[in-house]
Amino acid sequence: MNKPSNHKHKKQFGQNFLNNPSVIAHIIDTISPRPEQHLVEIGPGEAALTEPLLDRVNHLDIIEIDRDLIGPLTQRFKDHPSFHLHNADALRFDYRQLVKQKGETLRMVGNLPYNISSPLMFHLLEQSDIIEDMHFMLQKEVVERLTAEPGRKAFGRLSVMIQYACQTEYLFTVGPENFTPPPKVDSAIVRLIPYASPPFKADNFADFAALVKQAFSQKRKTLRNTLKNWLNSEQIELCQIDPGLRAEALSVEDFVHLANLYSQVKPQKDG
Ligand code: SAM
Repeated sequence: MNKPSNHKHKKQFGQNFLNNPSVIAHIIDTISPRPEQHLVEIGPGEAALTEPLLDRVNHLDIIEIDRDLIGPLTQRFKDHPSFHLHNADALRFDYRQLVKQKGETLRMVGNLPYNISSPLMFHLLEQSDIIEDMHFMLQKEVVERLTAEPGRKAFGRLSVMIQYACQTEYLFTVGPENFTPPPKVDSAIVRLIPYASPPFKADNFADFAALVKQAFSQKRKTLRNTLKNWLNSEQIELCQIDPGLRAEALSVEDFVHLANLYSQVKPQKDG
C-alpha cells in the first residue's frame, strides 16, 4: 500500500487512487515505456503511475484538473527534469501543443475518471494523428464495449466509433480492492492504437457517425426500421446486408458501406 495522504478524495473528479504496487507495476510493464518516448498522463492524482513513469521516460506531460493536487505534485517532482504538469481539463486540452518536433507522437496513459471516459475518447480521436497509442484504466463495462466484436451483447455505438479509428485490446481486469476509495465496479485496462488510416474509410465521416447513431437508436429494431428514412431495404441489400438484421450484428465495414451509400443518395440541401 502507498502511504496514506491528507487529500480528501473528490467524487466529482472520479478520484479512486490506485493503492496496490503490484497492479501499478503490471500496468507500467504493460505500457512498457522507453526513455525516448513522449508520454502524457491524464489524471495523476497522487502519482501512483506518475512516479514509476518518471523513472522510465525523459518526457512526461501530466494533465490534472484538481487544483488541490497541483501544489503537492509540483513540490514532490520539482527537481525532476522529465516532469511537466498542466493544471487543465483533459476534455478541453489541446494535445497538439505538446508536440515539439515534426513527426513526434504521444503515448497517452491514465487511470481515468469514469464520468469523462467516453467524451475523452472522442476528444482524443480528433487528435489521433499525433497519438501513437493509449493505455487507459476504465470501468470494465466500458472496456468491454470498446473491444466487443459484432454480435456480442456489449457491441454498440461506442464499439463501432472507436473501432473505426483504432485497434482495441482488452488487457486485464482490476478489482475495486486495488483503489482507495474502492469504486463500486470492476475496472479494466484497454489498449487503443489509432490507425494511420482507417482500414474501411467513410467518404463523409459526419454521415457515418450520424448513421451509426441512428442504427443503434432503437437496439431491438431491425435496420429496415431504424434506417427507413435513410436507406430503403433494396439499398441496404445492395451493401450485401440483410435489412432484417439489428445494428449489433453489423461490422464496422458494414456500417462504412451503408454510410457511403447514404452519402451518395441522401437528399442534397439547397444553397
Ligand atoms: N492516476 C491516479 C491513480 O491511478 O491513483 C489517479 C486516478 S483517479 C481515478 C482520476 C484522476 O483524474 C484524479 O486525479 C482526478 O482529479 C483527475 N481528473 C478528473 N477529471 C479530470 C479532467 N477532466 N481533466 C484532468 N484530470 C481529471
